[in-house]
Amino acid sequence: MRADHDRMEDVVAAYALDACDDAEREEVEAHLDGCPSCRALARRLSRTVAALPLAVDPVRPPDQLRDRILAAATASLAPGHAPEPDTEADAPNVLTFPVRAERSRRPRRRIPLHWAAVAVLAVALAGLGAWNVILDQSLDAPPARYSLAGTGTLAGASGTVTEFRRQDAALVALTGMPPPPAGKVYQLWLIDASGRTSSAGTFTPSADGTARVGVDRPMSGVKTVAVTAEDGPTGARAPTGKPELAGQIGG
Ligand SMILES: [Zn+2]
Repeated sequence: MRADHDRMEDVVAAYALDACDDAEREEVEAHLDGCPSCRALARRLSRTVAALPLAVDPVRPPDQLRDRILAAATASLAPGHAPEPDTEADAPNVLTFPVRAERSRRPRRRIPLHWAAVAVLAVALAGLGAWNVILDQSLDAPPARYSLAGTGTLAGASGTVTEFRRQDAALVALTGMPPPPAGKVYQLWLIDASGRTSSAGTFTPSADGTARVGVDRPMSGVKTVAVTAEDGPTGARAPTGKPELAGQIGG
């Protein structure tokens, strides 16, 4: 069953996007019945498809998975729809997103969806797929993105704020974060033009120094996004020190 699972996980992506053939579909559905992990993956990928326009950053899924999906996509491409043959050779490790313009007019076209599977999978693997607020993102309201930079004890840290205006929400993604000092947590702050701060929650980075914090409110009026270390687990009502990781939002 384990080998079956490893193999099916690859096909589940195509299934979730309605991009596999009848035989594969039957096989996947039979497997999903007995495999909660693949069911969860299928659910996540199905929801993530709506977020495809966000998948503009080149990312790299595991080679084996990528090869499989690219092979499936290429095999099903009709003559005349083949991608530029040199694209792969020029950038063997980078998956770009070729279907954006077409998708808005013909969202159910089979050929773009095969390529879409690559992008969706890349998004899911990048961890973005786990965050639900992006899923209703529409084609005509692209997210805005801003940078965060660290100083002091957070000099090695950086991050991005992705603002989803239509959803009145944002995603803060951080890298290079050291563990917080003992007894502390990191706290995310939204600061307006008058300097008023409001907490957007506390968090602790993963062992690899990354953290993702969803901001479930509009970013309008927010001028600065900042991070401080505060007493855990609840954090502080206002920053108790100068933020060592911050970035400007808007304009
Ligand atoms: Zn499975």
